[in-house]
Amino acid sequence: MNRRDFSKNVLLLGLGAQTGCTVNMSKVNIDLGNYYEEPAKKLPVRKFDVVVAGAGTAGVVAAIAAARQGAKTALIEVKGYPGGTVTEGGTALHSFYNLWKAFPGVKKRQVVRGIPQDIIDRLMKVDGTSGHAEMSKGYNYDSVCTCIDTELYKLVTFEMLVEAGVFVCVNTLVARAIMDGSRIRGVIVESRSGRETFYAKSFIDCTAYGDLSAYAGAEYTEPNDYPVVNSIGVANVNLETLHDFLAKHDAISQLARGMRSGKDNQIVRIQGTAAKLPGDFGAEAGKIGMSMVTTTVHDNYFMFIKLNFKMPVSPTNRDEVAKAELELRRRQFRAIELFREYIPGCEKAFIARTSPKLCIRRGRLIACDYDISHEDVIEGRHFDDEVMTYGFHDSAPRYQIKDGGTYGLPYRALRVAGIENLLAAGMLITSDHRAHMSTRNTVCCMGQGQATGTAAALCAQKNCGTRDLRYSDLRAALVKDGVYFES
Ligand SMILES: Cc1cc2nc3c(=O)[nH]c(=O)nc-3n(C[C@H](O)[C@H](O)[C@H](O)COP(=O)(O)OP(=O)(O)OC[C@H]3O[C@@H](n4cnc5c(N)ncnc54)[C@H](O)[C@@H]3O)c2cc1C
Repeated sequence: MNRRDFSKNVLLLGLGAQTGCTVNMSKVNIDLGNYYEEPAKKLPVRKFDVVVAGAGTAGVVAAIAAARQGAKTALIEVKGYPGGTVTEGGTALHSFYNLWKAFPGVKKRQVVRGIPQDIIDRLMKVDGTSGHAEMSKGYNYDSVCTCIDTELYKLVTFEMLVEAGVFVCVNTLVARAIMDGSRIRGVIVESRSGRETFYAKSFIDCTAYGDLSAYAGAEYTEPNDYPVVNSIGVANVNLETLHDFLAKHDAISQLARGMRSGKDNQIVRIQGTAAKLPGDFGAEAGKIGMSMVTTTVHDNYFMFIKLNFKMPVSPTNRDEVAKAELELRRRQFRAIELFREYIPGCEKAFIARTSPKLCIRRGRLIACDYDISHEDVIEGRHFDDEVMTYGFHDSAPRYQIKDGGTYGLPYRALRVAGIENLLAAGMLITSDHRAHMSTRNTVCCMGQGQATGTAAALCAQKNCGTRDLRYSDLRAALVKDGVYFES
């Protein structure tokens, strides 16, 4: 079938014709209005020191950190691999560094190290990352981004987890919490091996949506303050031709060079301003919420054209999510059509991968003992119980960290309010949208992972709740494991 026939068939199926429109799912009445009472059942029990729910950006690091502290650690992930949104949604890892460029006289320094950097070192050995690539265009505030091979990230982190001695359960869902007052006693997990109970002394919620916290009865809200996205990997493209075309139309808004296909100083991230391009490209891209951000570590391939879609209700609503999933896949198809038609270097482009499900920047927001404010972030505040430092803001240059420095993340911001032995790490903390535009970024989530994994292991060792852990012990363990603090 040639391309024209394919497009025609897709139009006949109604896909192309409906792109950009509201999805109409068939209306089948499935609500019987009554209930089935599930019978009680005996489940096998497994015992751990630490259970981490969700093997995503934060969870992988949390589990490695807990296991490296000597804790018997289980990591439970519903998909078949570790990695989470860092391998599915984002464009590049932001940022291991402070935003020094906008502040003359301020020095570049790496402010997130430890296990997140160990992962990058391992990826470097297998050509799985651009390395820490400096932005040379557009983002004078966004000083460094780190691009990854998303498939190698899954493999490398899986291997690191196994090497650290983590009991890794993939294709396994955390389905329920078993409570003993305000303490979590265990979780019920479901896989094709059946339903099981995992008991532990300490728990970490790294599910992004805060599933475990919600099951444990923690307070939460659902702000629904971002669009959802399904990103795509696009193959059969020529990045240099794309670059020259964008340059000709003065449409390059971001550029970074780093390692690509084994060679240094190659384009690894390029963003185009669609509105500056000739023809209908800009207008058509706007209809499908497309922003031309591309990231790569391979010749002839780039990832992550973002196709934003704002859902009318929270993405915890299964049926609304189904509509969004269909709409996003229509938008992906349309995006590729636009690239082929309008962008030199992309005439024969095709979708080589999609995210397995839509990606999200925030699902549930979990109430913690402290809520990081935007002032904390932009004033560069530090705390007497901080567990990491961070220096990036996704809304820069509008919002910067004061004087190109860092702020600290306090331990109490990672303790789930009202639950004795539950910590949280990742996109699920921080209520202020502007502050969240900093704390939700991948490298911050990874740092939170190391902090919570270490704390959970120490709590298990000392048989104490998360609020009874001595900060000096936690800090000493973090420093020993390479975490950077401003002295
Ligand atoms: C479109 C998009 C673009 C972005 N761009 C950037 C960017 O350019 N730079 C940047 O630094 N950041 C970016 N981000 C933000 C960043 O990627 C995320 O905030 C971060 O990766 C979130 O990490 P997390 O650990 O909280 O969640 P995740 O990485 O999503 O991990 C959650 C894991 O938990 C698993 N899980 C969920 N529920 C259960 C359950 N009940 N049982 C078992 N497992 C479960 C999931 O499958 C998943 O693997 C972007 C995000 C999106 C969506």
